Amino acid sequence: MAMRVLVGCKRVIDYAVKIRINPTKSGVVRKGVKHSMNPFDEIALEEAVRLKEKKVASEIIAVSCGTQQSQETLRTALAMGADRAVLVKYGTEDEPDMGPLAVANVLAKLAVQENVDLIILGKQAIDDDCNQTGQMVASLLGWPQATFASELTVDGPKLAITREVDGGLESIKVTLPAVVTADLRLNEPRYATLPNIMKAKKKPLTTLDPGSLGVDIADLTSRQEVLSVEDPPVREAGSKVANVDELISKLKEAGVV
Ligand code: AMP
Repeated sequence: MAMRVLVGCKRVIDYAVKIRINPTKSGVVRKGVKHSMNPFDEIALEEAVRLKEKKVASEIIAVSCGTQQSQETLRTALAMGADRAVLVKYGTEDEPDMGPLAVANVLAKLAVQENVDLIILGKQAIDDDCNQTGQMVASLLGWPQATFASELTVDGPKLAITREVDGGLESIKVTLPAVVTADLRLNEPRYATLPNIMKAKKKPLTTLDPGSLGVDIADLTSRQEVLSVEDPPVREAGSKVANVDELISKLKEAGVV
């Protein structure tokens, strides 16, 4: 079967960056900060590319909802093996991003428009830690969902998925079309090679306005308001002890032993 696969690729602040809260405490500083593709989305994309290499998938469409700069993330997706990319342009780096409900609505519309059989997303975005988009898009489309996937095999018109759940692994089968969200151990994503980065420059990248998909972002984002964003409390300094006896008496003082 020749599956058409849609992959969500969110541009997030790089995992190695030290996050700073903005002066108005309405969010984090994003301008001038290194961004990358959400690591779980690299895994989602890698899985799609492997399906294409096995000739199970016929086309991979990478989608990012975000600012103009998300084009960079999509070029990376194209260099990793996506065939086409769609930027659903929204907002600026000073504004909050679309949020899971709006993104889910956009992805659901695109999935129908592009006639895809499978949507693979990351299990969560490392910036908002929401872990909601995959579940919401499955619900909007009425498709089965296989979240936290650590293994995926195609079995006729079905997908066999191993899910990482508390205390073990769950094996399930879902019928296509379906939504899968990628967990850390699903695969190890490849690096984009220089020749592929060069080739990616020629692959199609289209830009869409969410309104053209019939999605009212203002309405969907107005339902939740961020009141404030705070730094975690600063850790208090510790003290040094000279020997084990002193350590034990301090632990006794603190009521630990
Ligand atoms: P979240 O529900 O925000 O934790 O995100 C879960 C997954 O949904 C991510 O790993 C992405 O695959 C997808 N996703 C979320 N936001 C976006 C976005 N702005 N653009 C593209 N994909 C997204």
